[in-house]
Amino acid sequence: MQTITSRLGCVQARLEQACREAGRPVDAVQLLAVSKTQPAEAVRAAHAAGQRAFGENYVQEALDKIAALADLRSQLEWHLIGPLQGNKTRVVAEAFDWVHGIDRLKIAERLNAQRPATLAPLQVCLQVNISGEASKSGLAPAEVADVARAVAALPRLRLRGLMAIPEPADDVAAQRVPHRALRELIERLREGGLHGLDTLSMGMSADLEAAVLEGATIVRIGTAIFGARG
Ligand SMILES: *Cc1c(COP(=O)(O)O)cnc(C)c1O
Repeated sequence: MQTITSRLGCVQARLEQACREAGRPVDAVQLLAVSKTQPAEAVRAAHAAGQRAFGENYVQEALDKIAALADLRSQLEWHLIGPLQGNKTRVVAEAFDWVHGIDRLKIAERLNAQRPATLAPLQVCLQVNISGEASKSGLAPAEVADVARAVAALPRLRLRGLMAIPEPADDVAAQRVPHRALRELIERLREGGLHGLDTLSMGMSADLEAAVLEGATIVRIGTAIFGARG
């Protein structure tokens, strides 16, 4: 039975190796530990091993965990990476630091209106359905530019970049294709005037290397850190 500390060390080593292969600085990519379905004590263990940023998919589960770890709140960064319904935006605006899965302007407008003035702007990414799967949420690539311009104008949000969950593929070459498409999309947005976009949230346990080779700045890693989800 491997500990969270040793698994975290393995993931960090994978990440550094991928950065070296990509010719990028080893600190160019932030590790987001995806703690969905894991108990608060697993987050506490990862924190003790030095991890600071955690990703959650389910709003209520996340709120319970954030409350259980209130003593660490100032040291932790909480990212919502799952889908977000309109009736949950207020609690999300109050509790999280980042939201990765913005897929319509309406949700962004609600978060903007509900983000407490006492907190820093909410950091957000637009989710893109980069593999064009019918079942997946996310904006179609052609819709992204208009939504990005509108979200970037909301004062209580800070649009940081794009997020995607590509269709799984077996080898690194195939995995790189959708990651490359997301990078090209953010490059076009920057050329179109959104110069502040600095975040590509892509890469999970199975495709971390491909994502880093194509320019990921946040990788979202669950099972490789915490083990299989029950
Ligand atoms: C669960 C999840 C992850 C982590 O996946 P692993 O394969 O466990 O690393 C990353 N991103 C999103 C959006 C997820 O839902």
